[in-house]
Amino acid sequence: MKIFNTLTRKKDEFTPINEGKVGIYVCGPTVYDYIHIGNARPMIVFDTLRRYFEYKGYEVNYVSNFTDVDDKIIKKAIAEGVESTVISERFIEECKKDMASLNVKEATTHPKATEEIDDMIAMVQTLIEKDYAYEVNGTVYFRTRKFSDYGKLSKKNLDDLRGGNRELLVSGQDEKEDTLDFVLWKPKKEGEPSWPSPWGEGRPGWHLECSVMSKKYIGDVIDIHAGGEDLIFPHHENEIAQSEAANDKEFARYWMHNGFLKIDNEKMSKSLGNFFTVREIGDKYDLQVIRFFMLSAHYRSPLNFSAELVESSKNGLDRIKTAAARIEEAVSAGVEGDMTATETENVLAIDAFVKKYEDAMEDDLNTADAISVVFELVKLVNTSIVAGESTKAYAEKAYDTLKLLCDILGINVKEEAVLLDEEIENLIQERQDARKAKNFARADEIRNLLTEKGIILEDTREGVRWKRA
Ligand code: AMP
Ligand code: ZN
Repeated sequence: MKIFNTLTRKKDEFTPINEGKVGIYVCGPTVYDYIHIGNARPMIVFDTLRRYFEYKGYEVNYVSNFTDVDDKIIKKAIAEGVESTVISERFIEECKKDMASLNVKEATTHPKATEEIDDMIAMVQTLIEKDYAYEVNGTVYFRTRKFSDYGKLSKKNLDDLRGGNRELLVSGQDEKEDTLDFVLWKPKKEGEPSWPSPWGEGRPGWHLECSVMSKKYIGDVIDIHAGGEDLIFPHHENEIAQSEAANDKEFARYWMHNGFLKIDNEKMSKSLGNFFTVREIGDKYDLQVIRFFMLSAHYRSPLNFSAELVESSKNGLDRIKTAAARIEEAVSAGVEGDMTATETENVLAIDAFVKKYEDAMEDDLNTADAISVVFELVKLVNTSIVAGESTKAYAEKAYDTLKLLCDILGINVKEEAVLLDEEIENLIQERQDARKAKNFARADEIRNLLTEKGIILEDTREGVRWKRA
């Protein structure tokens, strides 16, 4: 597979560090509010990358963090008069619900920054020992100039940065040795969450979190590091500096960055009033449509979100689902026995579509072209399948292929009846009652029904808890 690598600025052939395995780290959201639809883009795109690797037989270790200590979280906690963790835990849960609605698989690990503080302190200590970092009044800074490769990802030159980046210069505290030095550990301010460290009570810098969590859950060298293009500088550049200075190894072999989502051709911003959360959009559209819409463009291109474009994605997705429903009917009513000569020929065409789809995905995850192939397949099946006339074997081949190609994109061709929270709770109650009445058969039946719908039950001392798989 070819991947456009931000590090080399070209499409590089992907070769994993360990055969058959791939470690992917995707920078996750800061959890102070509901995620917005821009945040959904990297989630959907890199979940699709993961699904494609899994389709190819790779074992994928997909790690995506939650930044759960941050100025914005603290600000909101103060405003609500609660602990920061109340805010971060609330929005982690909400974010997980949105991800499930977008059919984004749970990461192999979803580390939280606040649970990895010891390792962060250890990395800062290593950097100080190696002279890559220094402490002043409880703040630890990274000595940027000492890392000779600084700027290799963003292609920025240190002297240009120093002269040209006024923002860095004016915000540079006097105590820093150099205005380019960035914070690894910051001292506690009144009312902020903090942890003890060799440099006093404080909390980690944002860049440090990802360097530490990717090392812990994937390793010193990761196959693919991904995120939105706004993260290239300074976030990812700083992650590289910290990790490579600490580990003496290349940090990530492939860097993938998604383009930005705009609304009606403008930057999404609260002040412009064109800012939408996934939750709000979910009230208007099925989030499957949003997923399909996001994948209709190449991930590196800017993507414009407008009612018209979403409507056209909705029509496209409906066309696919209608075709799937028709084929399903043809499977049920399928003629037993061998395929006809025409059907056998069509199977060759179907296999060629699979190959074409794979070629598109292998070309830097070109989901836009892959979706065009799905439409070609839909066209063929629409014209070649008639319920009651087509053979079962042919209809099954068509259905399986359509489902497979959509599954890789995280699109369900078949509407699964989703249980509402209330329905789940009623069923759980019914199961409890059945158990009390020693009607274990019914109790098991309900548990199985819930499992089929992706609801996991956990019997705890406080009663039954449930979650969506
Ligand atoms: P944040 O919570 O701001 O750190 O963002 C989480 C992820 O969403 C990062 O990978 C960002 O690059 C990405 N992101 C934020 N806004 C947008 C947008 N408008 N379009 C695409 N990606 C975005
Ligand atoms: Zn990160």
